[in-house]
Amino acid sequence: MNYHFADRTRNFTSSAVRDILAVTQQGNVISFAGGLPSEEFFPVEQVRLAYEKVFASGTGALQYGVTEGFLPLRGLLQERMKTKGIHSDPEAIMMTTGSQQAIDLFSKIMLSPNDIVLTEDPTYLAALQVFKAYEGQVYSVQGDEYGMDPQDLEHKIQTLKPKFIYVVPTFSNPEGKVWSLERRTALVELAKKYNVLVFEDDPYGEIQFDEGETYPSLASLDQERTHVLYTSTFSKTVVPALRCGWITGPKEVIGMMAQAKQSSDLHSSSIDQQALYFLMRDFDLNSHIALLRREYYQRMIVMRDYLNNLEGFSFTEPKGGMFFWVKADKQLDMTGLLPEAVRHGVAYVPGAPFYVANPQENTFRLNFTHSTPDKLKLGMMRLSEVLGNVGK
Ligand code: PMP
Repeated sequence: MNYHFADRTRNFTSSAVRDILAVTQQGNVISFAGGLPSEEFFPVEQVRLAYEKVFASGTGALQYGVTEGFLPLRGLLQERMKTKGIHSDPEAIMMTTGSQQAIDLFSKIMLSPNDIVLTEDPTYLAALQVFKAYEGQVYSVQGDEYGMDPQDLEHKIQTLKPKFIYVVPTFSNPEGKVWSLERRTALVELAKKYNVLVFEDDPYGEIQFDEGETYPSLASLDQERTHVLYTSTFSKTVVPALRCGWITGPKEVIGMMAQAKQSSDLHSSSIDQQALYFLMRDFDLNSHIALLRREYYQRMIVMRDYLNNLEGFSFTEPKGGMFFWVKADKQLDMTGLLPEAVRHGVAYVPGAPFYVANPQENTFRLNFTHSTPDKLKLGMMRLSEVLGNVGK
């Protein structure tokens, strides 16, 4: 039969690259494609203990919970964010099913058809999919390695009147870049000057390699807590399967998002939130994050050394996060080269789908956190075989 889906489903996108990458799940393909954390460092025992504590604590965790999430957990998050200069209170914090849901719910309450969202270019692919699914129009702001260009941003705010600005300022996906303080401040000031909301997506901020550096979040620069929505997640620092993310920002906005969440899923899993609560209470999460930083740094270095030997490609060494963003000096078609790479037993993500406008086919993204150093070496040898000659 003909299924008459809603008009908005025309904006749902599924990428052609998915089929190729599906192949990488099987066989001996070493995949640098997904944004996956390393399984070796999952705190399995601590997670198991946390769930045991949930079940020992009675039946509460098996009951329906409040939409905004488990209050004691929001209290711990308030404390944690305070150490990063984000002052919030539990009423202005909502737990979400991953930070992906925070992007979705925010778009749901903000975007009417053809409303405009400003983003970086390239930017997080799954955020672009959400904005388009809600019939928003996405425009990119010019930028460089330090972040959005304030002049172009101001011009686009004035002329396009965006509903909000979406950014990943700390170790971005896909570029792995980190905004300068100057650009952060400029963005927050412009948001205030023109009364535009900023959505700061920060899944990678904790994965920072240089302990000496500080990258203040945009939310911490918005002292009055009026213009910045901040979302983060435990997917990269604990385990993605918890599906525990959170969002904080102006109370009115969080309140409206809570209403939207009611119609989506009533609330995120009580069991998982309570397990996370015990984990945060009893486990030294900061030491665990310090371990991830050290180990991921080592992996990044392994990949960097291979990339350095690859002629005809350029990249910036990431200061944190999970990705290298690589550009061929020549006009190579990295989507077209992917099947060849997969035949050689290695996969990457072509960069084109991450672009809002004018996709640059000569770019690709590599994840360095998921593979062990040995696999990283083998995968990079295979990739060097494929790209070694074509790049020159
Ligand atoms: N934002 C960005 C930039 C991401 O890279 C990801 C994960 N790939 C997410 C949000 C969603 O993460 P999660 O839903 O697991 O919290």
